[in-house]
Amino acid sequence: MRLHRVVCAVLCLALGAAPGRAGAQVADTLPTIPAAARAGDHFDPEAATDAYLATVPPDQRARSDAYSEGGYWLLLWNFLLSAATYILLLAAGWSARMRDLAERVTRFRPLQVMTYWIQFLVVTSAIEFPLALYQNFYRERQYGLGTQTLGGWLGDELKTLVLGIVLGGLFVWGLYAVLRRARRSWWMWGSALTIVSLAVGALITPVYIAPLFNKYTKLEDPAVREPILRMARANGIPASDVYVVDASKQTTRVSANVSGFLGTERITLNDNLLRRATLPEIEAVMGHEMGHYVLNHVYTALLFLGVVTVIVFALLSRLSAWALARWGPAWRIRGVDDLASLPLLALILGTLLFVLTPVTNSFTRMQEEEADIFGLNAARQPDGMALVTLKLGEYRKLDPGHLEEIVFFDHPSGRRRIHDAMRWKAEHLDGSEDRLSRHVAPRNVACRPELTPLPCPRAESSARPAASAAPASADTAIPAPRRSR
Ligand SMILES: [Zn+2]
Repeated sequence: MRLHRVVCAVLCLALGAAPGRAGAQVADTLPTIPAAARAGDHFDPEAATDAYLATVPPDQRARSDAYSEGGYWLLLWNFLLSAATYILLLAAGWSARMRDLAERVTRFRPLQVMTYWIQFLVVTSAIEFPLALYQNFYRERQYGLGTQTLGGWLGDELKTLVLGIVLGGLFVWGLYAVLRRARRSWWMWGSALTIVSLAVGALITPVYIAPLFNKYTKLEDPAVREPILRMARANGIPASDVYVVDASKQTTRVSANVSGFLGTERITLNDNLLRRATLPEIEAVMGHEMGHYVLNHVYTALLFLGVVTVIVFALLSRLSAWALARWGPAWRIRGVDDLASLPLLALILGTLLFVLTPVTNSFTRMQEEEADIFGLNAARQPDGMALVTLKLGEYRKLDPGHLEEIVFFDHPSGRRRIHDAMRWKAEHLDGSEDRLSRHVAPRNVACRPELTPLPCPRAESSARPAASAAPASADTAIPAPRRSR
């Protein structure tokens, strides 16, 4: 059930997501830069950050804090439930019975593995279903995030289960082949198999797996596409690969991601972002995603996961040997290479990964902050970044404590991201208005009112840049795209 989510969490370096009113008219909620965050002689990044955070109404802050804090507890409940499920499979002898059945059905090893695996996946998914239903369907709707009907959600879950049977089955077959052939050094071969599987997952996810759940189309709107492609070309990124995904099918969250590697890379922005954000916000997000791409984050993430995998498998080998010596006969498990040992391996693996959550989160958070800094330099939209961070903050606690951020956050907190943006702005105040407005203006495209917080210039003023036609200075509101000349 969790395969797609795991692959995505690991390898789709998503910027994030936010709730909101699906299909809300952007023009009704045009963002403006708070007074203390406007460029000027006394610009102070701390005060500017506080001013941005203060624009969020208290009830909205309370709601996103509650959503995030509930998520921390759900991490624990999910871990405890799966641990209890695996212990039940072992101690009640279900795992041994499932193995006996697989051995009765066929003598052909790969089919035995598949028969056991299907039983294992169906039983564990069934036990964990109520929590998944609450967490991923009811709770998402309760917080205004989910847009799916129950039928649509169940359909996606079923697809995930089938993918888990096929891809997970291949992995488990490979793992037990290794376990049978290399009794002592299986942890080395097993970690190699895991790393290769993660890499293959990263390779095929954008092309073969993600399209099973959503429709991906090339971004066609020149008013949005052209500024993104200019930024992509300027940063050495193959320039035709910007995709839009119909994420509004499942959620109201705003997000974008970069996924794939070795030629399957693609930068994708979701349709909620396209609908709810202004062009400077979109550019800030795309600058961040391009950062993941240029900084080779998929490769460094695989390297990091490789190191984690080897350590985890070394511990897995010792702990499973100890547990089997102690309880193996009572659970009717013949050895670690017996299929019935799978719940034990999953229990130990799940526990180690749960304990390592702060470490893996911190690695991801570090990459995300690198991408933020790259994005600020590439897009030069500190206010766009701050404004879109507030949108992400609709579902993510904006101002957590230091320890809370280290343990639970796989992205920098809203406060940190806005502060980084304001720090960048403070160092670029000199002549920044002119540079910012020139960068923002997409050339050769019509002014789109839904993409700018400023009114589009009227026909008679079309020869003038929108930023100078507007009553506010370029820095008090986000500059508008120019009308084509
Ligand atoms: Zn990111």
